[in-house]
Amino acid sequence: TSERFYLGLDFGTSGARFAIIDLDGKIQAEAKREYPLYSDIPLELRKHIVSISIDGTSATTLIVHSDTGEPLSRPFLYNESCPDALPMVKSIAPPNHTVCTGSSTLCKLVSWWNNAGSNQKSALLLHQADWLLWLLHGKLGVSDYNNALKVGYDPEVDSYPSWLVCQPYSHLLPSVVAPGTPIASLKEEIRNKFGFQKDCVVCTGTTDSIAAFLAARATQPGKAVTSLGSTLAIKLLSNTRIEDSRFGVYSHRLDDKWLVGGASNTGGAVLRQLFTDDQLDNLSEQINPSEASLLDYYPLPKVGERFPVADPNLAPRLVPRPESDVEYLHGILESIARIEAKAYGLLKDLGATEVDEVFTAGGGAKNEKWTKIRERVLGLPVIRANQTEAAYGAALLAIKGDQVNIL
Ligand code: ADP
Repeated sequence: TSERFYLGLDFGTSGARFAIIDLDGKIQAEAKREYPLYSDIPLELRKHIVSISIDGTSATTLIVHSDTGEPLSRPFLYNESCPDALPMVKSIAPPNHTVCTGSSTLCKLVSWWNNAGSNQKSALLLHQADWLLWLLHGKLGVSDYNNALKVGYDPEVDSYPSWLVCQPYSHLLPSVVAPGTPIASLKEEIRNKFGFQKDCVVCTGTTDSIAAFLAARATQPGKAVTSLGSTLAIKLLSNTRIEDSRFGVYSHRLDDKWLVGGASNTGGAVLRQLFTDDQLDNLSEQINPSEASLLDYYPLPKVGERFPVADPNLAPRLVPRPESDVEYLHGILESIARIEAKAYGLLKDLGATEVDEVFTAGGGAKNEKWTKIRERVLGLPVIRANQTEAAYGAALLAIKGDQVNIL
């Protein structure tokens, strides 16, 4: 009866997922549903859940009434752009600030303000995770410094910057605490309706991609996660904060450390243009990963690269194509590994903590030959991450919140 479980909820781009874990990180239950959804958290586990957290898509924005929580407009989705607000945002923010892109939360706020908001006295901005968490704890106006980065929050000084505070819409900005901070108990009506326990606490969340990083439990500076999905995204835990808008490199705060990230356009999308997943498996089988391929490609699905080479005109390079498809795939996998190595090298050059171990997530993580190639090219241990689901990372934040609570 003294079992203590932790619930993480992930509301991503295509569906929602939950994970219930114990203090050792062992999964007690998990499930996923595409939207629209109803995913049943097992009844018998609910009464043991002592803490809940939620991650949501970054820059998905809601404007609600600050007393009732009623939406004052339709939600702005994560990838939606508000170019109408960009000139104004650029005129107030420092050059190259993360808010200076049309899809930033701040552009969404300014667009709403200009079009409809300025005569709304009682409005409040919430991110997707904030809003979902509010449904559970009932305290309006709380966010975390990961979600709040794209509205302009400065995680280093832990406040909104003065250029933002002096704007006429600054009263809409939510208060900000660390991810995994306990906010309040689960609302009584929800507890009673769904059979959760009285002491269950609801904690602030984070963004979906940060939650996925947390899932891999790369908790020491120098540990990194390479995500080999359609694109190649790397995230490195660093003691230092680095930003470089040329390469799209920026840092999220994680307590006393920084999560440095960058994304290349190379990755699995190119493989999928050339081979089926079955072919990938079969051809990979035949590769000798201890042998270096001399084929030098820059695999891209189309023209343009941001990181680790900032060149909007960079053309895909996938020739010469050898007769053997095994050799061809070897050359492509090796070339992507070289781009990965260059990416980690660039982060180091920009001042981040040097990487010493790489975990891998995404469709490419299951390719053991590729992993061996990457170990050789990176000169580092490369390990397939045990957990990669954002819901698992959110459940780890629930543990964190519960431990803060006990102290
Ligand atoms: P995303 O969510 O970004 O679409 P996933 O993490 O689901 O991507 O991974 C899908 C990618 O993994 C595809 O682009 C595919 O080319 C790649 N992939 C699938 N199987 C293999 C394999 N055996 N080796 C390397 N890459 C693979």
